Amino acid sequence: FDIREQRISDTEREFEKALRPLAFDDFSGQEKIIENLRVFVMAARMRKEPLDHVLLHGPPGLGKTTLANIVANELGVGFKITSGPVLDKPGDLAGLLTSLEENDVLFIDEIHRLSPVVEEYLYSAMEDFRIDIMIDKGPSARSIQIELNPFTLVGATTRSGLLTSPLRARFGINCHLEYYDHAVLTHIIERSSSLLGVPCTREAATEIAMRSRGTPRIANALLRRVRDFAQVKGSGSIDLDIARYALESLNIDQYGLDEIDNKILSIIIDKFKGGPVGLTTIATALGEDPGTLEEVYEPYLIKEGFIKRTPRGREVTDLAYTHLNRHRISEQGT
Ligand code: ADP
Repeated sequence: FDIREQRISDTEREFEKALRPLAFDDFSGQEKIIENLRVFVMAARMRKEPLDHVLLHGPPGLGKTTLANIVANELGVGFKITSGPVLDKPGDLAGLLTSLEENDVLFIDEIHRLSPVVEEYLYSAMEDFRIDIMIDKGPSARSIQIELNPFTLVGATTRSGLLTSPLRARFGINCHLEYYDHAVLTHIIERSSSLLGVPCTREAATEIAMRSRGTPRIANALLRRVRDFAQVKGSGSIDLDIARYALESLNIDQYGLDEIDNKILSIIIDKFKGGPVGLTTIATALGEDPGTLEEVYEPYLIKEGFIKRTPRGREVTDLAYTHLNRHRISEQGT
């Protein structure tokens, strides 16, 4: 049961689609970002121009795709969606770009994973709404220029550190999505349960929210599992007892930490006496790359106070010891 799994199944995707907010008013949290985007969208509409290109970055499941879709809806334009790894040939990109209508939104997920050639093509498309395509090979090779309709590129990435600087420089609007607090997640769960037609008490929603790792995708996925328990083992509606029972059966820990989170904490405690230890050293022990550790896994642990950044490296806090049921080995008496 790995809820943070990125390869989500088709049913999961359908479920997500049904709960996905379609307008700014339905989107909870990220207030500052929403406030700014509303202004930029309104200004673009008034000028009948495309919105500036937007870069959304932040951990998975925080609403990047949702927000891109909302921006297109609020602009009243079409929305096309693709991703970095899928767009592997310049021809694919050219096909997509030429299919865009005036001021449409093109969403590229995982934009840090574009191949360098494709990225190169994207530069002139973003800047001048034009692409140069090479046709033929050898002596008869020549390039033809294709004019594009003005469009808005919305790029999303979990790893903004991997973005090249020329690409980054072409985005006029840059938004960093943050983890959600419990109150906002509670609200999102209440909205989802009402869309699903499953009654859910405030206490139950809060209980699910606290274990959702600050992430709406996880909150909705947990709600879905809790609903199963409510239907099979309970009355069909979700109250605190059934929510607790379900979350316990699913082995979701009190803070919503997942296997990798717990592994990171145990590594620092068991192999490095709780730290301080360098990021790269932890990453090697974990078998992950340091950038992913820093941008994807670590921020939540820092935000919730399990890990501290110190000048000499990462250190776990007392909370981590308590959570994992370990005892700090005293440094005195050696
Ligand atoms: P990302 O693209 O960042 O991985 P998504 O946009 O796919 O995340 O969001 C995952 C799910 O979480 C969506 O199906 C959506 O229903 C829900 N969601 C995300 N952000 C919000 C929000 N602010 N309010 C309500 N639901 C949200």
